[in-house]
Parts: sequence; structure tokens; C-alpha cells
Amino acid sequence: MARKKKQLKVVFLGGVGEIGKNMTALEYGDNILIIDCGCTFPTVDTPGVDVIVPDFSYLEDNYDKIRGIVITHGHEDHIGGLPYLLDDCRQIPVYGSSLTLALVKHKLKEKGISIPKLNVVKGGEVRKVGCFDVEFISVTHSISGAFALSITTPEGVVFHTGDYKIDYTPISGEHINLSRIAEIGNKGVRLMLGESTNIEKQGSTISETKVGETLDKIIRNNTDKRIIIATFASNINRIQQIISICENLGRRVAFNGRSMKNISVMAKELKLLSAGEQTIVDIDKIGEIEPHKLCIITTGSQGEPMSALTRMCNGEDKVVVGDNDLIIISSSPIPGNEKAVYNVINNLYRRGAKVLYGSLEALHVSGHACQEEIKLMTTLVKPQFFIPVHGEYRHMQQNRELAISLGVNPKNTMIAEIGSCIAVSKKGLTRLDNVVAGNTYVDGLAGVDASILKDRHQLSKEGLVIVLVSVSVQDKSMCAPVEVIARGISLDEEQTDYIKSIVEKVFDDTNYNKPEVREEFKSNVRKKINRYFNNKLRQKPMVLPIVMEK
Ligand SMILES: [Zn+2]
Ligand SMILES: [Zn+2]
Repeated sequence: MARKKKQLKVVFLGGVGEIGKNMTALEYGDNILIIDCGCTFPTVDTPGVDVIVPDFSYLEDNYDKIRGIVITHGHEDHIGGLPYLLDDCRQIPVYGSSLTLALVKHKLKEKGISIPKLNVVKGGEVRKVGCFDVEFISVTHSISGAFALSITTPEGVVFHTGDYKIDYTPISGEHINLSRIAEIGNKGVRLMLGESTNIEKQGSTISETKVGETLDKIIRNNTDKRIIIATFASNINRIQQIISICENLGRRVAFNGRSMKNISVMAKELKLLSAGEQTIVDIDKIGEIEPHKLCIITTGSQGEPMSALTRMCNGEDKVVVGDNDLIIISSSPIPGNEKAVYNVINNLYRRGAKVLYGSLEALHVSGHACQEEIKLMTTLVKPQFFIPVHGEYRHMQQNRELAISLGVNPKNTMIAEIGSCIAVSKKGLTRLDNVVAGNTYVDGLAGVDASILKDRHQLSKEGLVIVLVSVSVQDKSMCAPVEVIARGISLDEEQTDYIKSIVEKVFDDTNYNKPEVREEFKSNVRKKINRYFNNKLRQKPMVLPIVMEK
């Protein structure tokens, strides 16, 4: 019998059709290479859920083939799923930049997971992972230590852009290695996986340097105020700019919020953040500094409920906000967070503070490439095949169209969805059967499935009606009056009595004379009461019949 020919497969486990929980696997024979392992945060659609990670079933079924995990950079949508994957798969080596892996280590420690084999790589290095040679290429993004990946496979080179922008004047001095990307493109790239986040935005992303200029001007013009700046803790370049400006203008700097304190310590250890001996002051000692000589850098730029800025605006933090404060929100609300952010801003105004936010000036710039940058990247990589990633469906479709306008043959492009498995050979892309994939909802230490989420929606929107029925099996009769308990829905006496009469009628009709008919009785009670609520009251509470047999 002829042996089944090996083929290169790209398996999409997350990050396509969504911005979040990025995860892609390359598979060839007995070798699987995982690229990123991210998470997504819950929305109103997922009540009570702490975090959403990819469904790892496919990887668990193929555990013996996994040769390594390469992480493009340290944002949550690229590393946040690792504690849940590595909990069961500790032996898999993980590769990434020093900052990325410091963040991974911290995350695993917090969850009490023993640290796997972490391999720090630098831009320009090549690592052999199974049958794949992975070259890590420095790119600019809103976090340091971000990589694009050029992966040499038996079927040619797969180029994954990671998250990137083309910032010609980066703060860290870590430039995007465009000349190396051009070389790789010239040698021939079989498949490009290109990020799509900002495809709807024309032109180019503004350089991070510009934010520094804006902040410098604002801080210079407000010498009488205490300054509080909220930004992402992971944006070390932004934090560095604020520290440098404050040092120039004779201000001390304090960090507020757990992740801000953590990352500032981590970044200092890794020599990614430099500050004079006297510059940083402990947040507990800011009382010793004159307010107009102080700048507090804080978490909470997304209005997160437990963050330091939210605590400050609610008067629950040791930092008390007042009319001598100028607060700068140096980030844009991530879609979905707008209401929370504006609530925080309203409350800061209530306390008398002045707030600068939004697009008033360049207070924030995106870390993702806009159209002109994507054009340059795709042109340099010159791929034979193109599959867009890191975007909702419209972003990916527009990125695909852009690649076609740049000369990629339309037949050589494809849109993937979560679970897609696409075979790559020099002849073309072929869609294979989907693999098991999707969302895993994590609540505390347990997983919750879609049916539980459905229940939570119904309970939170429609309420609950419990019907308690006591049955004497011996006498074949109800041995106590029916009890009706309602939560999250109001029932008057008449309605309650009507529900009781429904139960009694169903009891008689079901001929409840033995325990075997219990389920049938419960189901009929549920149906009849549901119908009553639906037809008479236009309501849909969850109806829960409980039968106690005596
Ligand atoms: Zn990112
Ligand atoms: Zn991302």
C-alpha cells in the first residue's frame, strides 16, 4: 500500500473572523508548530466568564506531534491562552523575545503553573522546531520585542507578519527589519499570513514619537497641575517617553495599578526601561512630593472596573483625584469598552479634574499597520499565496482584496475561519475538512459550555420561576400544595394561582402514579407554563419544575 503523502497543513484555531485569541498551527507529517496562543476577554454576551481561550481539542489529540510554540509578542491576544494549554502540556518548548517570555512566566506563576522550557530569542535568530526552521524578524508594534516569522517548511517559506506597524522612528531603537523582509521576499515566499486589524484605515499609522511630542507639550503647559496618565501597561515605549519627559521637566514619576507596577519592574530588569535613580517614587510615598512636581502613570485606560483609574474616579483609591489634577487618557477605547471609558471620564470631571482624551490631539497611536504599511509589507514579501489573519471577516476580506490589487492571483488567496485546515503546496491551496475548534469559556477554575451561557442569558434577562410539587407515590396524589417561587420576574396572586392550577391539571392528565412518569410530568409542566408566559404575559422566564416524591 502506498504511504500517504505528507503535506503542509495550516490549521486555524483562533484569531480569524475575530480580533482576539490568535492561534495558528503548521503541521507537516509528525511535526506541529504552534504560532501564538491568545485569549479574548468576555463581553455582555458571555456573562460571568473570566476569559475565552481557543478550544485545544485538536492539539490535545495530536499532542505527540507538537514540537514547539512560537510567540510573536506579549499581548494578551497572543499569550493569554498559554496557561490553559501548558497546564496539560508542560514539555512543549516555548520561543519568544525576552519581554514576551517574562510576561509569559509571570502569567504562569500567577496561575501556579510550573514553568515550561522557555527559549529567549533575538531578532535575526533562527531556531529549528521539528522540521521547521523559524526565523524571528524584529517588527515595530505597541509592545517591545515583537516579531514577524519566516518559517522554512518542506513546502516552502510561510511568512507570518505577527502584529506590526511600520514605525521609522521607534522609541526603543528596535527598527522593523524591512531589508531582511525584502530579502526573504526575493528568495520566494510560498504563503503569507498577514494581519488585517487596521485595513480600513487609509494612509500610515503615526509614529510613537509623535505621542511623545504631544505629551511633552501638554506637561510643559501645565506646570501647576499634578499629571495622571492612563495607558496600557504593556506599552513600555510609551511609559519610557513619559519618564523621559518628566525627567526633563523636573517631575517625579509614580506607578499605580498592579500590572503597571509589575511591568515597570520587569522592564527595568530587562533593561527596556531607563530612569534616573531619583525619578521613580513609590506610590505610597507620593505625599512627600509636591503635586505639581509629580506624574502618576496608571492602569485603567479602558475603564476596567477593578483598575486603578476606575478606583481613583470612584474615590476608592489611595490617590485622591481633585481639581488640581490633569488626567490624560493615552489610549483609544477598544470597541466595546467605550461606555466604561466614558463613565470613568464623567466621574473624573465630577471630581473637578481636567481630562484630555480621544482624538483631541495625538494622545495615542495605534500599533497596527494601516493600508499604506500593509501595501509595503505585502509588496516586500511578494507571496505566491495569501491568507489574511488577525481581523474580523470584513477586515480579512479587504486585506485579501488589497493583496490581489498588489498582484497576488485571486485563486491563490483564501479566507479562513476558526477550524479551517488548509493544505499548501506549490500547486495551490486546498481546503481540507475542518478540525474541532471554537471557544472555551473559563469561569474561575472551571470551563462553562454554550448551554450554560444560554441559561445565564435567560436568567439575567427573563428571570426564574421554580415550581415545587410534592407527590406521594403511595397515594398517587399531591401531598402538599404546589409552591411557586419567582426571581427576577414579578407575579401577582392571580397569576400564581393560575400557574398552580396548570400544574394540578398536568398532574391529573399525566396519570402520575409511578416515579417513571416524573420526567414526562416535569416536561409537560414546563411546556404548559412556558406557553402561559409566552401567550398571556409575553415573557420567557426559565421555568424549573422540582418534584419531591415521598
Ligand atoms: Zn499586539
Ligand atoms: Zn494582536
